[in-house]
Amino acid sequence: SKPVKPVSPEPAPARPARTLTHPDRSYWPDAGVTKQDLADYYAAIWPRMAPFITDRALALLRCPNGIAGPRFFQKNLWKGAGGHLVPLQDPEGEAGTPLIGLHDRDGLIDLVQAAALEIHPWGASVQAWSQPDMIVMDLDPGDGVPWSMVIEAAREIRARLERSGLASFVKTTGGKGLHVVAPLKPGADWAVVKAFTRSMAQAMVSDSPQRYVATITKSRRQGRILVDYLRNQRGATAVAPYSPRARPGAPVAMPLAWNELGPDIGPAHFTIGTIGARLAVADPWAEIRDAARPLR
Ligand code: ATP
Ligand code: MN
Ligand code: MN
Repeated sequence: SKPVKPVSPEPAPARPARTLTHPDRSYWPDAGVTKQDLADYYAAIWPRMAPFITDRALALLRCPNGIAGPRFFQKNLWKGAGGHLVPLQDPEGEAGTPLIGLHDRDGLIDLVQAAALEIHPWGASVQAWSQPDMIVMDLDPGDGVPWSMVIEAAREIRARLERSGLASFVKTTGGKGLHVVAPLKPGADWAVVKAFTRSMAQAMVSDSPQRYVATITKSRRQGRILVDYLRNQRGATAVAPYSPRARPGAPVAMPLAWNELGPDIGPAHFTIGTIGARLAVADPWAEIRDAARPLR
């Protein structure tokens, strides 16, 4: 039998309390959301958000003076980052430039301290860097596209994924569109997953050229939806479920049940300010991990 560890008579040294500098700093001035409010939001959302942001590389949109000030998209861990942010090394990435990871709620509070107003994870976890554990189909409506058409596009993607044996889940982005997420059992590598999503996007364009485009060319987007499959390549990111957005109103990307899609819930419907009521209803993505299937 294992030797019993002696129990220390001293209590474990307490971690220094997580203190925010400048808790009253305004991050979303138009919505009256401060740095402290963001910390409170992250603390409340942690149990739901954790599975999507732990053990995977994160890119951050940092806005040191809030949404009205300068912003930068950060992919690598920096000197002086909070002690609960951990360096991650992509085995196929550049050595010596660690990516950003976190394991616990304190890591999220370090992100608040770093003015990370948006969190954008990779589509693969550190257990299998080369084998994504989700597909993200990003629907980007061009000017003049009605919301109902974005919803129809999401439903079409859901049906196409289903025909390939994949379950899918939908979220608002907090911006202008929707993301359809299909959980994968890791196995297929990035090239296979990207090719699969590209052929789905191209099939949608060839079936409905008046509705969809699959390339970024701006001029073609008027009245159409860009089916952006390029979230599905190594190193690409998509905004995390429950991440706030650095946009007016403090909107958040929100997981929905499919039957919630409709005119009443627009892409930026949910905000940091309204999260309490949302957390009171059942998690619409509760089954997402169990629903993962391999891409065949
Ligand atoms: P929307 O609904 O408004 O489209 P979105 O999150 O889907 O919201 P997109 O512009 O479609 O926004 O997606 C861009 C994606 O590219 C983001 O989700 C993010 O992960 C990534 N990204 C954003 N900014 C940068 C950047 N400066 N450099 C690299 N990648 C970025
Ligand atoms: Mn988008
Ligand atoms: Mn996009």
